[in-house]
Amino acid sequence: MNQLINNRDLEFQLYEVLATEKLTQAEKFSEHNKETFDAVLETAEKIATKYFLNHNHKADQNEPQFIDGKVEMIPEVKEAFDAYRDAGFIASGMDFDLGGMQLPFTISLAASAYFMSANPSTTGYGFLTAGSANLIRTFGNDEQKEKFLPKMLTGEFSGTMALTEPSAGSSLSDITTQAIPQDDGTYKIKGQKIFISGGDHQLTDNIIHLVLAKIKGGPVGVKGISLFVVPKFRLDEQGNPADANDVNLAGLFHKMGYRGTTSTALSFGENDDCTGYLIGQEHHGLKYMFQMMNEARLWVGFGAIMIGYRGYLASLDYAKERPQGRNPTQKNPTSPQVNIIEHADVRRMLLAQKSFVEGGVALCFYSGNLVDIAETAEGEVKINAALLLDLLMPIVKACNSDYGLLANDLAIQILGGSGYTHEYPVEQCYRDNRLNPIHEGTNGIQALDLLGRKVWLNNSAGLQLLAKNIVADIAQSEGLKKSNEFALTIGKALELCNKVTQHLGASMASNGANKTLANAGCYLSMMGKLVFSWMWLRQSIVAEKALANDISTSEQSFYQGKLQAAQYFIRWELPSIHQDADLLMTLDDTCLNMQEDWF
Ligand SMILES: Cc1cc2nc3c(=O)[nH]c(=O)nc-3n(C[C@H](O)[C@H](O)[C@H](O)COP(=O)(O)OP(=O)(O)OC[C@H]3O[C@@H](n4cnc5c(N)ncnc54)[C@H](O)[C@@H]3O)c2cc1C
Repeated sequence: MNQLINNRDLEFQLYEVLATEKLTQAEKFSEHNKETFDAVLETAEKIATKYFLNHNHKADQNEPQFIDGKVEMIPEVKEAFDAYRDAGFIASGMDFDLGGMQLPFTISLAASAYFMSANPSTTGYGFLTAGSANLIRTFGNDEQKEKFLPKMLTGEFSGTMALTEPSAGSSLSDITTQAIPQDDGTYKIKGQKIFISGGDHQLTDNIIHLVLAKIKGGPVGVKGISLFVVPKFRLDEQGNPADANDVNLAGLFHKMGYRGTTSTALSFGENDDCTGYLIGQEHHGLKYMFQMMNEARLWVGFGAIMIGYRGYLASLDYAKERPQGRNPTQKNPTSPQVNIIEHADVRRMLLAQKSFVEGGVALCFYSGNLVDIAETAEGEVKINAALLLDLLMPIVKACNSDYGLLANDLAIQILGGSGYTHEYPVEQCYRDNRLNPIHEGTNGIQALDLLGRKVWLNNSAGLQLLAKNIVADIAQSEGLKKSNEFALTIGKALELCNKVTQHLGASMASNGANKTLANAGCYLSMMGKLVFSWMWLRQSIVAEKALANDISTSEQSFYQGKLQAAQYFIRWELPSIHQDADLLMTLDDTCLNMQEDWF
């Protein structure tokens, strides 16, 4: 098994649980087949292992430095970025006519598993570029597409998303960066942005920032936000980088993790000479940016799970080889020590990690599949895929980033004192992963998005679809002993979640948003446990059916492992929804009513 992901699991999730190859029935993906998908995954594994894994630790120990006004970083980062772009991964999801591989989103996501697990920091540069290029492709005008897109897709230019400001992080309505219209149709941009990932470096010839700013006289709040393409260097007639566009690096942030990705404070228009090009219509910027953010939230959730996966595999290897202690029944002190994997408590920690990361992979691929269906299907199927995806997104981002981090915490615990040292990768995994509940909308904001908005959109159509899909999978467990046991528990959990949701809907009308949303985090956690259990039911059904066949011992072990992890999640994690439900049903006001002076 490699150190990055269990390839057998990847195959199981893509082809046995999801039947991803069915996507090739859509016109858009008709030139692909399972062989081309597998070839992409194999290339990803090779490049990730050779160019990304090799400097994950080194980049962590040697953060980018701000020297003579420039960012300097270890050379391996550029070698990796170049290998990634040369293999076509930046444009993997783009159409053939744009030079892309026209791959389903699910396969691009699966390929990224290797990169995220190997080295999340260096992977960031390619991801940000692909995401910002996709936004320009979707909402940019012809001139913008012609000027910026080709070079972003080949990785000659890179991209960023520049939203956050010193006084506006979660609350983007408060951004103050200004855009002043010019006679030639461009805008002068003026303002400060912070925490901008990939905001400056020497990896590419140009950096294309997608900047949120307000045009004077526009509506207040989020309705007054517009989106601009702001290159680091303006382009000449031939489309090559020319003069500097007054985007200045004010400084670098030094972080606990993700240390290989530059985290920048950028100053736009210090000399009143920063040109921005409006994307789409004035004041519609946040809507456009949400496309990138939604995509980014899926990548963030998946990235968190993959860092969790890396830690899980590292702690599994360690537990199989570390002799320590004896079983409780072995009283003879001279008997040989057992490897720690024999201790039930260590198995608990391994099983918890397995249930979090493999459950998370299932959820991310399920969501990726919805992205593909929403893009290629017709009519109701298309609409429903988009509705369900929209509902799931806060869960995908927040629950995966919580579970990924929990997994890394357990990995450290399994390694004991060694886990706390730089000698093993698990402490870095934890530090890297700690970012994921924070960026792309904190998990607190995701909870508000779920309970305050997503659940009620379109008369709760997304929520109804979720219930319908869970019920359909419950029906699939008929005749399967273990899966049916899980399905019964999940059926009851679904009923409870529905009851709580209805209660909160009524409360929203009678008690108002403040009181109802006060425990939004609890609601997100409850729904996350339901959704993860459902993902485990889907896996257990496939595993249990496979076990009825005449299969090799290693295959039997693989499927037994799936059933055991499903059982772990459903018996050990899911029951805590009852506590969540109690707090939510009583609109518990412990946190809301705590006064500042009482702390
Ligand atoms: C390493 C790193 C990389 C980043 N990369 C980028 C990037 O590339 N581009 C970019 O634009 N930004 C980026 N960010 C910024 C990131 O998106 C913000 O840090 C994040 O959105 C939170 O904003 P904040 O830091 O201002 O925290 P705040 O918004 O001040 O939040 C602080 C705490 O208060 C809570 N909170 C805030 N408002 C509410 C509310 N209404 N209700 C309940 N709780 C609330 C939050 O959940 C959080 O726990 C990055 C940040 C980091 C650390």
